[in-house]
Amino acid sequence: MKYLFLFIITTSYLFANAHIFVYHRFADDRYPSANTTIKELTKQFDYFKQNNYEVVPLSKILDKLEKKEEIPNKWIALTIDDAYKSFYSHGLEIFKKYNYPFSLYVYVEATEKHYGDFMNWEQIKESSKYGEIGLHSYSHKRMQNLSDKEIIQDTKNAFDTLVKYTNITPTTYVYPYGEFNEKVTNILKNNFSFRSILNQNTGSVNSKTDIYDIPRIALVGNVNINHKLRYKTFDAKWIEPKVFPRDGILKKVIVKVDKKYKKLKLYITKEGWRDVSVKNGVVDLDLNIYLKRARTRVMIGPNVFTISNNIINKVKTKKGEIK
Ligand SMILES: [Zn+2]
Repeated sequence: MKYLFLFIITTSYLFANAHIFVYHRFADDRYPSANTTIKELTKQFDYFKQNNYEVVPLSKILDKLEKKEEIPNKWIALTIDDAYKSFYSHGLEIFKKYNYPFSLYVYVEATEKHYGDFMNWEQIKESSKYGEIGLHSYSHKRMQNLSDKEIIQDTKNAFDTLVKYTNITPTTYVYPYGEFNEKVTNILKNNFSFRSILNQNTGSVNSKTDIYDIPRIALVGNVNINHKLRYKTFDAKWIEPKVFPRDGILKKVIVKVDKKYKKLKLYITKEGWRDVSVKNGVVDLDLNIYLKRARTRVMIGPNVFTISNNIINKVKTKKGEIK
């Protein structure tokens, strides 16, 4: 086992990397931080076409991952979170025009209870002719704040309700707000038969990507799509931090990486980038930084485009204190 682990962290092939993007709202200027205009969407799709990117169904990438096969560099999968009405009214026609498949992740309670901004069941069924449908929880709560029982209940409710109204069996899941921790992932893995779980961390997908921890890059506002396509997942094993520290103080960062690296760049939310040294494939850093954000991103890599993400979220109990 030990040797297998060493083998995994010391091999350094040039892995091919596909990219998975996530959209939220379309042509809805009330919410600029979640919106993609039609002009911008068309610009991105034209870029994919002109540069020979192939937009494939997410399931095609999952087929490759399950077989541990290389994933072509030029593959892209597109996902849409929440199932806002604006996708149905504005986004879908552009996807159809370019013949680009997508995975649509339904916030089930919003659709079931007819919350104003969200698609109805008929619109979801209609969309399923052109894309895949997955789950984005029932209640869209931060899963890491729920008990084990509540996480199971929420997911079961989402699953059963979607099947009841659409007859579609969802096979993939994306976390509300992209927030999760090891506990949440394990509960979803162990109690449901999802083929894959996707997060919202910056990175790429290659044959070594964990199928239950797939990165997706958010595309909102005006983006430099060429830059987004340069992101690659850096192969690293995080030892510390695993969870958000109780006292809010990040004391240490420990990461195992390929032995060939001597120096890397480390990023912490609100702290920015710093250079760190690597000894025998280990970054071991004493920090004592007070974390200013409940959602803190720690990243490491040889450059700002080749990174491993570690996002730690403050966990709150019902009484409001940190667990
Ligand atoms: Zn969402």
